[in-house]
Amino acid sequence: MTHMTPSDDAFATRAIHGGQAPEPTTGAIMPPIYQTSTYVQPELGGHLGYEYARVQNPTREALERNLASLEGGNFGLAFASGLAAIEAVVKTLSAGDHVVSEENTYGGTNRMFNKVLSRLGVDFTFVDSRDPEAVRDALRPETRLIHLETPTNPMMRLCDLEAIAEIAGEAQALLMVDNTFSTPFNQRPLEFGADVVVHSTTKYLNGHSDVIGGALVVDDEELFDELSFIRKSTGAVPGPMDAWLVLRGTKTLHLRMKAHNENGLAVARFLEEHPATQAVHYPGLPSHPQHALALRQMTGFTGMVSVELGSGERARTMVERTRLFALAESLGGVESLIGVPALMTHASVAPDRRDAMGVTEGLVRLSVGIEDPADLLEDLTEALKGL
Ligand SMILES: *Cc1c(COP(=O)(O)O)cnc(C)c1O
Repeated sequence: MTHMTPSDDAFATRAIHGGQAPEPTTGAIMPPIYQTSTYVQPELGGHLGYEYARVQNPTREALERNLASLEGGNFGLAFASGLAAIEAVVKTLSAGDHVVSEENTYGGTNRMFNKVLSRLGVDFTFVDSRDPEAVRDALRPETRLIHLETPTNPMMRLCDLEAIAEIAGEAQALLMVDNTFSTPFNQRPLEFGADVVVHSTTKYLNGHSDVIGGALVVDDEELFDELSFIRKSTGAVPGPMDAWLVLRGTKTLHLRMKAHNENGLAVARFLEEHPATQAVHYPGLPSHPQHALALRQMTGFTGMVSVELGSGERARTMVERTRLFALAESLGGVESLIGVPALMTHASVAPDRRDAMGVTEGLVRLSVGIEDPADLLEDLTEALKGL
């Protein structure tokens, strides 16, 4: 029995079969949850490939092979959270090294870079990476890593992956791309030359809002070995139950993303037409300033939409009035969520930096779920009445 479906199988087939085979002892079709901390060794100095569960766990390994297959990479590494996955990549650096990061990333990434990792002697420069030349201009001889997110959270800016991969290559810096918003169904950064793909599996990959998890996918074996060493040495592994839940989630990723893409576009078009809104940020709309780039590097535009309502009061009215869209942080689950990033996910970003990026108190972010689209539009119609 093979562990891997061939990498040239279609996405839907890899989502369901990639990295997993029936368990040989019983034939269980689903990978068992190996809820164990250690493994018995038949003799001193001779084990069965499994010694201690921080280092090896078969459930986690099935998830890692599955995610690698979906991103089109050779190796996957699962983590306890998305932030732990990003942190592990930065831990390949040493004090004195320099990182160039997109400025409009997930708020928690920005907080970790600014308030934790910079204290350890790694230096960060934040740029608007919509312009690849801004990334080039920020490079220093000691730059070792470039961190991108595309689309960005919550402004839906895009970074040109191919152009920035070339800049990273010339600078001999690693290019890490947070692909949480797009998922490999819509965009595969390794194909454009990225070295490391990051996921908060908490979001679309798990898709059911019941796990915190993260992952990395890489092509290069040496980099994989280095990241495995860091994870083994620092310990941010997911438990087997969580790994199993994410693996269950990815089996329907293609179906869910198709519905998220359709509903996201429907909501973006509706909001753009609505007189109460001032601007809608969604790469799938022809009005998005980088729509041409979106068509080049993405095949779908997800369920993430943000809309400017013009004031904090109007934003509050909208998010408190919706019934189907629940007021909550996070994104990527089957159910629709709504929030105000400036007061929620991005509250930890400095207010002047937030304003400069357009993350105002009037900006509402929607994670459009896969409910019936007519019901979602009805909910938004009611919430915007009189605004
Ligand atoms: C949520 C999120 C993260 C952080 O992931 P956790 O699993 O919450 O640690 C990182 N990047 C993006 C784009 C996210 O949405």
